[in-house]
Parts: sequence; C-alpha cells; structure tokens
Amino acid sequence: MPKLHIKVDPDLCIGAASCVTIAPETFQLNEENKASVFDHGREPTPRTYERVIEVTEEEKENLVLAAQSCPTLAISIFDEAGTQLFPDL
Ligand code: SF4
Repeated sequence: MPKLHIKVDPDLCIGAASCVTIAPETFQLNEENKASVFDHGREPTPRTYERVIEVTEEEKENLVLAAQSCPTLAISIFDEAGTQLFPDL
C-alpha cells in the first residue's frame, strides 16, 4: 500500500473543515481550530500537523480531494519518494 506524507500548515489553516468533511479519519480540528493529521482516526501525539500514513489507492485519491478542497492550500501531500503530489508545483 502506498505511504503518504501529509502535512498541514497551521499558519495557513483557517479551520474551514472541508478536509474534515471529506477525510474525517485523517483530519480533525483541534482546540485551536486547526486541522491535525490523524492516522486512520488515531492521533498518538496531540497537535500533530505532519505524519506519514499508509493508505489504499482509494484513500490516497480521497486525501488528494481533501487537500484540493482546502481554501487556503494548507495541506500538502508527498509520496514515499518525497515527490509533492499536491499542490501541483
Ligand atoms: S480545509 Fe484547510 S483550512 Fe480547512 S481545516 Fe482543513 S486544512 Fe484547515
């Protein structure tokens, strides 16, 4: 299964929560109204804005959709090789 490196820039996140609506297993708003990154619903350390998670192809597509939905482009997605999948460079 592909591994993705998901990153939220908390300075850009405005808590619009469209990422949470699309991918609630990965994104949840914390008490600062910023999206933390969860691994399939799990968040071992509080307020983690960056994490590598293993996903199915379907989950991968959904996470790209979630990143695309972010009005401030606060979410970046990289593949295992470190290639940026979103936002397009
Ligand atoms: S969609 Fe963007 S701005 Fe909204 S909560 Fe998610 S990361 Fe933050």
